[in-house]
Amino acid sequence: MTDKYVYRFGGGATEGSGEMRDLLGGKGAGLAEMTAADLPVPPGFTIVTTACGLYAAGRGKLPPEVAEQQEAALRWLEGLLGRGLGDPENPLLISVRSGAKFSMPGMMDTILNLGLNDRSVEGLAARTGNRRFAFDSYRRFLQMFGSVVLGVEKDAFEHLLARFKEEKGAKIDLDLSAGRLEEVAGLFKGLIRERTRDDFPQDPRKQLDMARDAVFRSWNNDRAVFYRKQNGIPDDLGTAVNVQAMVFGNMGPRSATGVGFTRDPATGAAEFYGEYLMNAQGEDVVAGIRTPEPIRTLEEQLPESYAQLRRFTDHLEKHYRDVQDFEFTVEEGKLYMLQTRRGQRTAQAAVRIAVDMVREGLITKEEALMRVEPAQLDQLLHPRIDPSAKVVVLARGLAASPGAAVGSIVFTSEEAVEAQRRGEKVILVRSETNPDDIHGMDAAAGILTATGGMTSHAAVVARGMGKCCVAGCSALRMDEEAGSLEIGTRRLGRGDTISLNGSTGEVLDGAVPTLEAEVADEFRVFMEWADQTRKLAVRANADIPRDAQQARKFGAQGIGLCRTEHMFFATERLPHVQQMILFAPIAKRLQAEMRRLEKEVSEAGSAKAETQTKLAATRKELEEPQRKLDEALAKILPLQRDDFYGLLKAMEGLPVTIRTLDPPLHEFLPRREELLVEIARMEERKESGPELERKRTLLKHVEELHEFNPMLGHRGCRLGIAYPEITAMQTRAIMEASCRLRKEGVAAHPEIMIPLVGDVREFLHQAAIVRETAQAVQEREGVEVDYLVGTMVEVPRAALTASEVAREAEFFSFGTNDLTQMTYGYSRDDAGKFLREYLELGVLDRDPFVSIDQAGVGQLVAMATERGRAARPGLKVGICGEHGGDPASVDFFSRVGLDYVSCSPFRVPIARLAAAQAALRARGVAETRTA
Ligand code: PEP
Ligand code: MG
Repeated sequence: MTDKYVYRFGGGATEGSGEMRDLLGGKGAGLAEMTAADLPVPPGFTIVTTACGLYAAGRGKLPPEVAEQQEAALRWLEGLLGRGLGDPENPLLISVRSGAKFSMPGMMDTILNLGLNDRSVEGLAARTGNRRFAFDSYRRFLQMFGSVVLGVEKDAFEHLLARFKEEKGAKIDLDLSAGRLEEVAGLFKGLIRERTRDDFPQDPRKQLDMARDAVFRSWNNDRAVFYRKQNGIPDDLGTAVNVQAMVFGNMGPRSATGVGFTRDPATGAAEFYGEYLMNAQGEDVVAGIRTPEPIRTLEEQLPESYAQLRRFTDHLEKHYRDVQDFEFTVEEGKLYMLQTRRGQRTAQAAVRIAVDMVREGLITKEEALMRVEPAQLDQLLHPRIDPSAKVVVLARGLAASPGAAVGSIVFTSEEAVEAQRRGEKVILVRSETNPDDIHGMDAAAGILTATGGMTSHAAVVARGMGKCCVAGCSALRMDEEAGSLEIGTRRLGRGDTISLNGSTGEVLDGAVPTLEAEVADEFRVFMEWADQTRKLAVRANADIPRDAQQARKFGAQGIGLCRTEHMFFATERLPHVQQMILFAPIAKRLQAEMRRLEKEVSEAGSAKAETQTKLAATRKELEEPQRKLDEALAKILPLQRDDFYGLLKAMEGLPVTIRTLDPPLHEFLPRREELLVEIARMEERKESGPELERKRTLLKHVEELHEFNPMLGHRGCRLGIAYPEITAMQTRAIMEASCRLRKEGVAAHPEIMIPLVGDVREFLHQAAIVRETAQAVQEREGVEVDYLVGTMVEVPRAALTASEVAREAEFFSFGTNDLTQMTYGYSRDDAGKFLREYLELGVLDRDPFVSIDQAGVGQLVAMATERGRAARPGLKVGICGEHGGDPASVDFFSRVGLDYVSCSPFRVPIARLAAAQAALRARGVAETRTA
């Protein structure tokens, strides 16, 4: 028995089925499925994917059986429709499409109207009564066939047409009459002859063979091969060829064509939705030449077709159990369904449809949860650019923090704060932001930066604030002094209005209309289902009570990271912090000196008078810096205590992880260049006095604190070890706040976290200070606080020595930002520059600062969790890097068995859904999203 290479569909003779995607490709299987369900699909046939391999193996020759079966199917089709391919009286026209198992961009474009030639075009003109349409179809077919099958560049046809129109004084295609289009067809044939040294094939059967072979060849074009490699699609699958009869919606007053959705794709409302045009071709609906009618009026114009359409689309939705996006044509009163596929929808619609379909008994809750893309939820929580707005894109940067913002340009944080006071909306535009900009960022409606990646300061802080941010927009040329910036060829100044789309990274010209975020009832129901399903807890990264409350509203089950340094930047606090930084090292040096001298005195028994004098002098010398240091700490302590009090209270009863100070201290000091300029100016003006002295001292310290690589320098627990008084002060503030809350009957569960530990002894040093201070506060207050002392795992060495660390630390929290930085050796602040190129070249598939590198960094996470729990059964393990809000990473962390992920407040719902989907995947519930 010969193999079967051709499967027919339609006309009551469907041979394939929806399950045969391997053999018929996705499109062919869909056509078989629709016709098997008795839907009126224009009939045709599919040449199987395996023939593609045979074509390649036979070096462009197919086994004769393929041609025989194809001819038999074609005859069947001609008989069924009573038309002949190339028939000058009554021509059958067909379309030829590629269709692999997986939808693959880069494959061959569709060819429509195959079967036209110099004679059959006359038949089409007669049958449609529209000569212009017939010749327009012919010239389009010549163009498609010429470029796709014969390899003449598309542009050559376009240029020819443009020149012709110019000669004839026609502005648009529609200005060309039937006669003119006939001339164009002649020109196109001439072009084909000139380029291929052969005539355009007039024989329609030859046209079909050539189109079929072109589909098979396109499987191995560069774009398709590259796409398969990128997406792990095997090379030997091959593509099928779908040949289908064309139908026409422009055959007269009982013909029409249209598109629609079974439910409203914008809101999700269960309303039939769509539009159509009477006596028109599909292209006319999309091209916007005529304004289509809303689908409801079809009921008056073609009541039978309308009733049928409702029935069929209802049936399709029930069959596929999802919203369908369909195309239809009515040819002289007969309805055809041309295509149906899963309907794209907004986030709002996705949630509503999923919930409604569960209520209607169409799908299960589990399926509903798998239907919504977690990242899509962002749309629901932030304002967004009105999708119907006309926009002019000035430039593109990284979509660093979603949402939309409109405002006038300012270049400094001070200007932003000022503008906010005046009630104006502004966009803060900076080369990059730094910790001093917090207030400006808070005051601005949105943030735009020229450099920096997805974990740059601007990106991380903006996400935390739930504020729209476009970062790393390299097309931006700033001249902050002159108060202007160039974006590409545009020059904009202070006060000019721009809009940002933080969900796409677009910078838009002028004020673009935006839509407010709205949370519907369905959303709450949907998220409850997610919570009932997931195993992984979700916490938030939040530093202030306002963010903590927001996080709680979004369903956070605790705080996974409070970065205490953000509390130090407030304008009124900075002087005390600077005082602490300036005097701590002096005090430290003198204290060491005193200890040395005291030891000398005690060892020498009767000490030398000289040593005694030195000791007294040092004691005296220490007085002033020690007083200054104590004074600074005494100023900061109550402020910190109030911060922690607010945070712990907002999270009543839930765990709150507070990290001791992390960033290098120079971040709290003015920039060296700024100080140099200020001092020079003061000296020039011959000023003197304490202010100049203060600036000089500051400069000295700034220079002392200078580091070539601060990210790998004196930060994290290294700071706490050098300045134990800071760790002690922070612990005291946390514990005093907790005691106060306990006395007020509020449950506080602080988890004190030591950053950047690489060696267990670093942890031991800091934990001793924390425990000792905590003990003292509890004894003094007479209150016991339920607290933990744990560590961040963000230096690879801590992950490698996790067993040792876990014996001492009561919890682990992976700081995957630093862990990624240190595992790859890519600077978080500089990687944006080359990562973009890496992604374009395919050196990396994903930005490892956005989605966890499972093979490398992820391996450290998995290993450290396992070793940590082996050393300390029940060790609590979480992650608080930016990856905590990335759905693919959340899936990974769920599989590794972490207890929680922590992310910025606005990403909490995303993480909750991603965690639910991870749990469902682990239970084997399949994805249906892409069906
Ligand atoms: C991290 O490194 O992942 C982390 C959460 O800390 P930070 O981003 O503050 O360095
Ligand atoms: Mg870190």
